[in-house]
Amino acid sequence: IEQTAYQNDKLAMLGKISAAIAHEIRNPLTAIRGFIQLLRPHLVQLGRDEYARIILTEIDRANDIIYEFLNSSKPSAPQKVVVSVSSLLKEVVLLTESEGLMKGCEINLRLPDEVMKISVDVKQIKQVLLNIIKNAMDAIEEVEGDHAGIIDIGAHLDGKFVNISIQDNGNGMDKALLAKLFDPFFTTKEKGTGLGLSVSYRIIKNHRGNISVDSMKGSGTVFLITLPLA
Ligand code: ADP
Repeated sequence: IEQTAYQNDKLAMLGKISAAIAHEIRNPLTAIRGFIQLLRPHLVQLGRDEYARIILTEIDRANDIIYEFLNSSKPSAPQKVVVSVSSLLKEVVLLTESEGLMKGCEINLRLPDEVMKISVDVKQIKQVLLNIIKNAMDAIEEVEGDHAGIIDIGAHLDGKFVNISIQDNGNGMDKALLAKLFDPFFTTKEKGTGLGLSVSYRIIKNHRGNISVDSMKGSGTVFLITLPLA
């Protein structure tokens, strides 16, 4: 599934607007959050703790959106360094393993013996991988019943490129959902921002790479990230 030029423009525009106003919205939100917390004991006395809980949740959601906005509006030129794909993937797995365990997902990393070096903005590529793994965990949680979640991560050389694959056995997506996957703000989650994948797409494109998805409703999803070798 390719993101269209129109979607890219839309995202770039959103990024610019957000950079200008995010700061101005964040400050009042921080103040509101602080005062609601001070009021909380009074609300509890009134039997209205639920109100405080909702206000705090919604403020946090707004903050998440602003945070992702800011990320998508950062200068597009990546700060590149040469790293090995294996070490990058090992680090990302280390960061996600404990959350995976808590959510009942096993994360398997399969790496070839070849050394694969890429020239990337490590922070940005880590963000992409974390977004995709986090989505995989969410998709696994969506499956009803006692489901043994598995996330398989792998990498292999393909000419002058490396293909990184992230496969889950989560709830999967139908064609209609797949078509909207990379749209900014498209989410099926109650607490989602719908920005994770559109931002990821932009990051990979800025690295002259590609990202594609294959999915089947009810059986799972595989994301494929292609990046040029250093
Ligand atoms: P968010 O995670 O905040 O919803 P994303 O842009 O990361 O935003 O994802 C958009 C939507 O794509 C998700 O809400 C979900 O419906 C769908 N999605 C993404 N990854 C997967 C996956 N691995 N399995 C099933 N659905 C997915």
